[in-house]
Amino acid sequence: MNNLYRIHCPVCRNKTRDRIREDTVLKNYPLYCPKCKQETLIKVKNLQITTITEPDTLDAEPMNL
Ligand SMILES: [Zn+2]
Repeated sequence: MNNLYRIHCPVCRNKTRDRIREDTVLKNYPLYCPKCKQETLIKVKNLQITTITEPDTLDAEPMNL
């Protein structure tokens, strides 16, 4: 039980060194990709990995919810 899954980089799809379990929950996790050599903020729940765009890095675009 409790298989470990490699997180793939959302930018280049390469495997990262990070692993998650089925019950892993991450929020604002800086995922480091050894290939891109950059960090991407992600959140993880139920093995669903979502990238987070920091509001600071956006150019004042209106949020349409
Ligand atoms: Zn990458």
